Amino acid sequence: MLSTKNVKLNLRDGKVMTMNPHTDVICREVGLRDGLQIVDIFFPTDEKIRWMREEVAAGVGSIQACSFVPPNRLPQFKDAEQVARAAGEIEGLWVSVLVPNLMGAEIAASIGADEIGFITSVSESHNAANVRRTSDELLNEFRKIVEFRNSLPTEKRFKLTSGLSTAFGCSIEGAIDPASVMRLAEKYVSAGSEMLTVGDTVGYANPVQVKKLFGELIAEFGSDVDVLGHFHDTRGLGIANAFAAYEAGCVMFDASLAGLGGCPYAPTATGNIVMEDLVFMFESAGIRTGIDLEKLIPVRKIIEKNLPEEPLHGAFAEAGAPKGFVFVANKTEAAE
Ligand code: ZN
Repeated sequence: MLSTKNVKLNLRDGKVMTMNPHTDVICREVGLRDGLQIVDIFFPTDEKIRWMREEVAAGVGSIQACSFVPPNRLPQFKDAEQVARAAGEIEGLWVSVLVPNLMGAEIAASIGADEIGFITSVSESHNAANVRRTSDELLNEFRKIVEFRNSLPTEKRFKLTSGLSTAFGCSIEGAIDPASVMRLAEKYVSAGSEMLTVGDTVGYANPVQVKKLFGELIAEFGSDVDVLGHFHDTRGLGIANAFAAYEAGCVMFDASLAGLGGCPYAPTATGNIVMEDLVFMFESAGIRTGIDLEKLIPVRKIIEKNLPEEPLHGAFAEAGAPKGFVFVANKTEAAE
């Protein structure tokens, strides 16, 4: 079993990214950001907060709470400040937010977000279509955020991560050359990134590619930065890809409850990999997540209630635990 040696858990003021130090992997909830960003119906603020609280009670230690994009672009995040603030008040939760620019980072930092993420796409056409900026312009904006972070007193500094999206494929450009992912990663690490979130944004990857690219990224940058796997289940390979990344040494993963979200290019496809299934996969393999599935499953009701039209994905929630199955967490507790 792999250890968490690649994860710098002592991230800020001694605060750790997971509530339970006895975990082997970190499964981060991103449904509130990645899932909700393509949902048109506004998810009420207090229900977003309830979702986070209940997941934390189930053992989820890290959540990407919102995105600080201008509300006219994504009204779903018009309450970003309020949500980020509420997330910061949840005991033990590692709060991550996304920002599109320096101004977003300044607001997020003033609220006290633990981690600020900035996304760039490996595909130049995806950048042009999505944010109407070139990769050089994005890198310049990222450098401004680095400068801003470095200007803050140590105790106010956030962890700065860069998300490399469409790392395996893009609906405009098709397959992505792994060498261009390595080049972009190098630019962001040298610019001051402390974590690389490597995303298969539209579900193009297969496990063989994932194992190879994550192996190369961790070999090259793993001693300086954390590498997190962000997989979408667009073509059903998301969970297999997550395990392939784990085998390559990755121990941090994004997922969303009930696989909320989707893919604007494939309306019936799922969004991020399903949190519950990811937790089940690891736990059944003896890899500790710190998350209690029995408490996690009922949290789906919050999504069901607020987004009755959205399909809820997830094989574990559908089938339940296998007969006689004991979660690793429970085994460990019994042994201690
Ligand atoms: Zn995503």
